[in-house]
Amino acid sequence: MSFATLGLSEEILRAISERGYTEPTPIQAQAIPVVLSGRDLLAGAQTGTGKTAGFTLPILQRLSVAKNAPGKAPIRVLVLVPTRELAAQVEESVREYGKYLKVSSMTMIGGVNINPQITRLKGRVDILVATPGRLLDHVQQKTVMLSGVEILVLDEADRMLDMGFIRDIRKILALLPKQRQNLLFSATFSDEIKTLADGLLDNPALVEVSRRNTTAEFITQKIYPVDRERKKDLLAKLIKENNWFQVLVFTRTKHGANNLAEYLTKQEIPSLAIHGNKSQAARTRALSEFKSGKLQVLCATDIAARGIDIIELPHVVNFELPNVAEDYVHRIGRTGRAGNEGEASSLVCVDEHKLLKSIERLTRFEIPVVQTPGFEPDPRIKAEPIVNGQNRDRGAKSQKRRGQSSQPAVRQGAGRNAAQPVPRAGGRGR
Ligand code: AMP
Repeated sequence: MSFATLGLSEEILRAISERGYTEPTPIQAQAIPVVLSGRDLLAGAQTGTGKTAGFTLPILQRLSVAKNAPGKAPIRVLVLVPTRELAAQVEESVREYGKYLKVSSMTMIGGVNINPQITRLKGRVDILVATPGRLLDHVQQKTVMLSGVEILVLDEADRMLDMGFIRDIRKILALLPKQRQNLLFSATFSDEIKTLADGLLDNPALVEVSRRNTTAEFITQKIYPVDRERKKDLLAKLIKENNWFQVLVFTRTKHGANNLAEYLTKQEIPSLAIHGNKSQAARTRALSEFKSGKLQVLCATDIAARGIDIIELPHVVNFELPNVAEDYVHRIGRTGRAGNEGEASSLVCVDEHKLLKSIERLTRFEIPVVQTPGFEPDPRIKAEPIVNGQNRDRGAKSQKRRGQSSQPAVRQGAGRNAAQPVPRAGGRGR
């Protein structure tokens, strides 16, 4: 299926193709027609499935068809999200997919000065992406008007409830016009979500996609504890001994991707790096060699990896854990696609134990730990802070910061967490 058959305008299709998407994901293929028809939607989809475009694309289409009445510019779409990070991500999608349309959007999040938001609200805002707490602050100060909202989206509704936003959400719902379209996205369906959906949605279409991207059944996840300076050796060993082919390796920085690709090539593992500093031609060549199997390893940063869509990618390696837990889910979602088995391996050093914890909290899964003999972490090595994607003191051998204790050790146990609610990663909205 192509995007062109879904009923989206030329302007939106152009933006999609520039983003590099050729085919809608299952959630997009199912949700887009429903949203375009004006019907309410209950969608079971989690991050990594392409759900954001699943609602932003048809919303943009609806807004661009039914234009705002002249002279009056109320907020027409309200997207409620649990965290600041998600707000930024959703609004970025709106801007990107809507870049050839005259649609304006804004994020409204807590933790930042409210005054610029007040100023921004005096101008035109078609789509408001907000965290509940800060939105209510604006409501209280009478700096936002919600009486013109035509479409409401509750994104990651289960996380909003986990974070205790239910009362805030109910207060906000009471301020919206009765006549509107409602879209609710949730990864899980607890009784609480069902109650919320029952009260909110009118004869909704149900769309559910498989739990592809968290602890998906098709993805085997492993943690390999190792010292930061020995990661390269361990990776080369794992690739050689397990005979891994088509390995997508994530690094935090472009420089790291380059270095690693060079090192692996020296170890006779054909590797290339792709990242924003490479020319389009170099990237295309690397990708096609990788896809054809000529190139064993591709080292990529998160941004560069966005354009890579290869069905049946068997191995994803986190050479370094991402700073944002959601990125882990995106990264490992690149393997185990379309029902194929995939393996996601993470090399974790002492600096990254906190990041690992937040990933496990987000995915509600305790990732099994595999210790490679000969690569046991040295307990004397202390954790170093990760600043701008790099360890600040890497290379500065003697500069040990005194008094800084290491993070708690990675558990040696393995297995799934019990399904009890746990606090989730990500900043609270207010
Ligand atoms: P989301 O679930 O919305 O957070 O999206 C997960 C990832 O999939 C993001 O990195 C998107 O850029 C990417 N994505 C969304 N739609 C598509 C598509 N149709 N084809 C390829 N990648 C996509």
